[in-house]
Amino acid sequence: MSIQFKVENQTGMARAGRLLTPHGEVETPVFMPVGTVATVKGMPQDILEELGVQILLGNTYHLYLRPGVETVRKLGGLHRFMAWPRAILTDSGGFQVFSLNELRKVTEDGVTFRSHLDGSSHFFSPESAMAAQIGLGADITMAFDECTEFPADHARTKASMELTLRWAERSKKYFEEHKQEVPWKKVVSGQWSVASENQKLETGNAHTDHRPLTTDHYLTQSLFGIVQGGMDLALRKESAERTVEIGFPGYAIGGLSVGEPRERTREVVEATLEHLPKDKPRYLMGVGTPEEIVEYASLGVDMMDCVLPTRAARHGLLFTSEGKVSIKQARYAQDPGPLDPNCDCRVCRRYSRAYLRHLYASNEVLAQVLNTLHNLSFYLDTMRRVRHSIQLGEESRFL
Ligand SMILES: [Zn+2]
Repeated sequence: MSIQFKVENQTGMARAGRLLTPHGEVETPVFMPVGTVATVKGMPQDILEELGVQILLGNTYHLYLRPGVETVRKLGGLHRFMAWPRAILTDSGGFQVFSLNELRKVTEDGVTFRSHLDGSSHFFSPESAMAAQIGLGADITMAFDECTEFPADHARTKASMELTLRWAERSKKYFEEHKQEVPWKKVVSGQWSVASENQKLETGNAHTDHRPLTTDHYLTQSLFGIVQGGMDLALRKESAERTVEIGFPGYAIGGLSVGEPRERTREVVEATLEHLPKDKPRYLMGVGTPEEIVEYASLGVDMMDCVLPTRAARHGLLFTSEGKVSIKQARYAQDPGPLDPNCDCRVCRRYSRAYLRHLYASNEVLAQVLNTLHNLSFYLDTMRRVRHSIQLGEESRFL
């Protein structure tokens, strides 16, 4: 068994659900902070827990180059290595190979690329990308795909989509044959389901229901498929249908946020979601601003990830209930007020805009820590609010 997913409330197209992974439950829609090299830059794991992060994303490409998959595997996998007991998702490495490597060479077999660290030559295939993800041991892994560049003409987009479909088959085949090699063992007795986990939470005891225990379940990783097809709605439909035919426990929409106009992103997301199964989690990769994550959740996306809140924080760009704040600006130098009067995070409760501005201007490490903490808190709060609206049957909107 790998994951279980249940949609509990639906309002319009938006869904609130629960995703049960071997490392705990994830309430959806969910925003997943990006922990590129087994760390969300500047954030200790206990703070991430305090913020309510239920699932983190790790980048296979970065971890493969440093510290290396074998090192992580020998240390018990990513959860143990980074002391993160909750759920983890790893990407396939495909996106970084395409975005960080201008000298990459794509063949039917895979992609040859150069390390952005030292220029050394490496090769990723669907099989080796899956082997890397099994060694890292995330709860959810992703099929190796080709992220189609933007713009791309119809012939190029179709050829790229077909390659991704062939790679999806190979990813699944390798994964099914090797998933038992995951570096952790999780065994649960009795019923392992979203319902029984809820009961455990409510009663504080897994065994108060006196149901006879069934056999032990060995929990393992799961593999999601990725829909490509560029900006072509007919190809998106075809990619979605044929990916669903291959069969995965969850589906991602890839190849967006690659430079296209935002209206186009929305159109493609909407048109793709239509062709994905309603009872499986749907993951939109690499989006977006706070407004966008609300919008996509309202369209029926369950999972999203983006480097924006953490990367912007390190550049002094903060998201607040009153709009964006560029903390480096001189106008905050004497401002005694909190960063966001409507935010309850530990930064907004304790520090002034003047102090945050001073830390940033002085290039202090603490500036990055506090800015990241607030931005993540703002994103997670935003998603929790959306989830609550869906549960109440209200339309989700931004603030
Ligand atoms: Zn705050």
